[in-house]
Amino acid sequence: MNKEQAIAACQAANVRLIRFLYCDNGCTIRGKLVPVDRLAGRIDAGQGLTVAMQAMNMLDQLQPVEGMGPVGEIRLVPDPNSLVILPYAPHNAAMMCDMLTLDQEPWGACPRTFLKRMIARAAEHDIVMQATFENEFSLFKDEGDGQYAPLDNALCFSSIAMTMAAEVIDDMVTAFQEQGIPIDAYYPELGHGQYELPIRHTHALAAADNQIWFRETVRNVAYQHGLLASLAPKPLPDQAGNGCHIHWSLWDPTGERNLLYDPQDPYGVSELGRQFIAGVLAHLPGLLALTAPSYNSYRRLQPHFWSSAYTAWGPDNREASVRVASGKWGREASTVNMELKASDPSNNPYLALGGLIAAGLDGIERKLDPGDASLIDPGNLTEEERQARGIHRYPTSLIDAVAALEADNVLLAALGSELSTPYIAVKRSEYHAFAAEDVDFEIKHHLYKF
Ligand code: GLU
Ligand code: MG
Repeated sequence: MNKEQAIAACQAANVRLIRFLYCDNGCTIRGKLVPVDRLAGRIDAGQGLTVAMQAMNMLDQLQPVEGMGPVGEIRLVPDPNSLVILPYAPHNAAMMCDMLTLDQEPWGACPRTFLKRMIARAAEHDIVMQATFENEFSLFKDEGDGQYAPLDNALCFSSIAMTMAAEVIDDMVTAFQEQGIPIDAYYPELGHGQYELPIRHTHALAAADNQIWFRETVRNVAYQHGLLASLAPKPLPDQAGNGCHIHWSLWDPTGERNLLYDPQDPYGVSELGRQFIAGVLAHLPGLLALTAPSYNSYRRLQPHFWSSAYTAWGPDNREASVRVASGKWGREASTVNMELKASDPSNNPYLALGGLIAAGLDGIERKLDPGDASLIDPGNLTEEERQARGIHRYPTSLIDAVAALEADNVLLAALGSELSTPYIAVKRSEYHAFAAEDVDFEIKHHLYKF
C-alpha cells in the first residue's frame, strides 16, 4: 500500500485518529496519534519524538545513556504498507513506524530498521525468510482489589475451555480477519486460562509487524470483554508459560524453493538448514537477550516445561531450543520449517527476528555444524551425556543473557552500538529493578505491560 492508498483507506473507514506505533528497547509498544487530515504530512515528514524514549525501560525509568537525554529529536515515519484499521477502537487506525534522524537518515537505534538491515543481509546470500510468531497468552477475570483469576481451570486442548472462551476468541478471530491477518488454528493450551492462536507466515518484516498487531489485538479485544489478556512469559508461576515460538523457513529469491528442505535427509533438513541452526545454537546465549528479554522470561525457560532450556535441536522435539517442524503430507518441500522455542511474547519482534537472522547467517558463513539431532528431552540426559553431545544449559537469568549478548561480537556488530548500548542499559536496569523486589511485583508489572 502506498501513501495515497493508505489515506484513501483511512477516509473510507471513517478514521479520525491514526496511531503511529513502535516497539521500544523495553519491548513495550508505544506511539503517538495524529488526526487523519495530518496523515499525508506525517508520512512525508514524520512525527517528532524525543531521542530519550529508546533509553526508557519497561518501568518508565529513563536510563543514563549518552546522547539519549532531554536534548535531541528523531522522527517516527509511518510505513503506509503496515496500515491496519483497528476493529477494537472506534475511528482509529494504526501504522508501524521507522525511526529517522533529522537528517532523514535511518536512526541507528531503530529496531525496525535493524530488522530491515538483516533482511537485506540475507538477500546478499540469496535468502528470503518467511516467518511467523506463534504466541500463547493468558486470559484473566478481574476479581477486584487488583486480583485476577484465570478464565478457566480446564485441561490442555479442553473442549470445556473452548466453550468458556468462545465469545472473546470469536471476537479476536473476527478482529484478525478484519485486519487482514490470517489465523492458522486455535486451541486452549495447557495452563489455566491459556490459549494459542497461531497466525500464518509471511515475509519477515510483515511477520514482525503482525506480532505487534497480535499483541495489540489480543489485549484490546479481551479488554472489551472485561477481561485482562496477558502475554507475559510466566504470568502464573505454577502454570505453563507463554511462549512466542518463532517459526521460519528460508527461500530462494524466486520464492519457489524452500532452502531448508532436503528430501534425502532423515529429518528433511538441508546442509544450509543445518548451518543456520548451528549459528542459532552457537549464538543462543546472547540471542536470548533479544528473544526472551524480560526478567519474567527466565521463570518460563526451565527444563521439562516444553519451552526449552538447553542449546539443542531435534525433529519435532519440543524440549529442543530449535525444533525442526515436520512438513505437511504431500507438501513437505514447502512446509518443513524451523521453530525457535526459546522466545516469548515479551520480546521486541524486530530485534528477536533480526538477531535470529544474524545468528543463522553467521552459521552459514562459517559453515557451522549443529551436531547430532536430539531425539529425546535433553533434560533427561546426565550432565556428562549433555557435555559429550555439546548440549549446554543456556542463561538462566536476564542478567546472564545480557552478559552473553555483550560478549557476542557477531550480534553486537549486527545491532550496531547505537542500538546495542541503550538496549543493554535498559535490560540491565530492568534486571536490577525486579531483582530488588518480590515475585508479586514482577508478576504484576509483566502482567500489565505485555
Ligand atoms: N507453553 C510452552 C512454552 O512455554 C509451549 C508448549 C507447546 O506448545 O509446545 O513455550
Ligand atoms: Mg503451544
